[in-house]
Amino acid sequence: TGSVLWLRRDLRRADHPALVAAASEGPVLPLVVIDATLWEGAGVVRRAWYAASVRACAEAYDGQLVLRVGDPRKVVPAVAREVGAQAVHVTRESTPFGRRRDAQVERALSHRDIRFISTGTPYAVGPGLVVKQDGAPYQVFTPFRAAWRDHGWPAPAGAPANLAVAHLESDREAWSFVDDALSVEGLPPLPEPGEAAALRKWREFLDGELAAYDTDRDRPDRPGTSQLSPHLKVGAIHPRTLLADLAGRRDRAADTFVSELAWREFYADVLWHNPSSAWRDLKPTLSGLAYDEADDLVEAWRQGRTGYPIVDAGMRQLLATGWMHNRVRMITASFLTKDLHVWWPIGARHFLDHLVDGDLASNSHGWQWVAGTGTDASPYFRVFNPVTQGKKFDPDGAYVRRWVPELAHLTGAAAHEPWTRHDGYAAGYCPRIVDHAQERVDALARLAAAKERV
Ligand code: FAD
Repeated sequence: TGSVLWLRRDLRRADHPALVAAASEGPVLPLVVIDATLWEGAGVVRRAWYAASVRACAEAYDGQLVLRVGDPRKVVPAVAREVGAQAVHVTRESTPFGRRRDAQVERALSHRDIRFISTGTPYAVGPGLVVKQDGAPYQVFTPFRAAWRDHGWPAPAGAPANLAVAHLESDREAWSFVDDALSVEGLPPLPEPGEAAALRKWREFLDGELAAYDTDRDRPDRPGTSQLSPHLKVGAIHPRTLLADLAGRRDRAADTFVSELAWREFYADVLWHNPSSAWRDLKPTLSGLAYDEADDLVEAWRQGRTGYPIVDAGMRQLLATGWMHNRVRMITASFLTKDLHVWWPIGARHFLDHLVDGDLASNSHGWQWVAGTGTDASPYFRVFNPVTQGKKFDPDGAYVRRWVPELAHLTGAAAHEPWTRHDGYAAGYCPRIVDHAQERVDALARLAAAKERV
């Protein structure tokens, strides 16, 4: 009698192939399982965002979504039995943890003769499907993107015919986990959760900022990007929906936006082929690099007190909002790895603890791109200069002034160089913790030494 739809990173109803597949077998019981291991490790911001997104999804199902807390290997088969389901439907997972867990849940279900059916993924093209002619995975983004486009993706899934939602008593204790996650003190204001809000945000962007995306996407002082990453993360909207809306467009802005979505797909693909790259260097070329512990300096970086305005603005934006502009993610990551000589996973962990869109594949490989240990688009010797980057991408200093009030009295680009002004430190801004020019030389010397060791 019907099936369970076990929702994870697919908290929506539209364009949902697994829901369509489940509905074709009779009544569907939407289920979310809070897995304590993932929940505790997620950090308060991501936990709160997931909780808010589950609540919004439950509302979309008129409160019929069942929430349970526990080990999915036990909970999923138990719920399936309770409701008399013959099958459990999911959207296929591609992270190392998700794949392992799903294989175990599938085994547990098979002991009870319940089928485990995966349909679709959180990506336009499932990780692992875009390969070279000889079957090898792509190592570099640009050829991946070309092959990804050639591969193509299906049109968005239609609404299921005759969706009947099964009923099971709600678990009040489980919902208290959601309430607790949302009442943590000091949480940054979260984006509006849910599928309707994600679609609205997308349509507004499509009719507005997208036109200037090509030029504005690198400007942290402008609202030039979609801010869809948290919604994509929980699957409130599927990238295929976005791609379908852009299908007829040939302009540069739309093309660049599709390219950015391709980065998300590429990194998921890289993680699929290299599960260990989640927390270890993808390429061994720099495995001999000498790193520093630099505890006090790392703490200054985390708090946004490095004395480099654009770095501090970004780190403070992260703490205050749970989001950071992509350009500034690159600048702050470069500062930690190249100016403080700290191994990238330490920064990646901090990002994951605070980002509302925190995503293992995009985060770890975004960090490795900057560190020079990942896919080889950015060579290690490219060291971002935080002052020139700031002046180029925040030319009027507006972004810096917004997040670093100690620099609010400086006008224009002077906000990027308080040391050049007699009143630069008048409002208590911190001095620079390192000398960038010197650290750049040090970083390059360490690189040369590491390369000699390989
Ligand atoms: P837009 O510019 O509107 O782009 C649209 C979508 O394309 C994004 O929502 C995102 O899904 C995807 N995208 C854009 N740029 C990238 C990129 N470089 N890599 C992968 N996907 C991209 N993105 C995350 O979603 N989660 C992370 O944890 C994350 N960590 C990062 C860490 C570092 C060090 C760096 C350099 C980048 C990281 N990114 C991460 C990528 C990127 O910064 C964000 O996706 C982007 O800033 C989200 O804002 P947006 O939705 O307005 O982006």
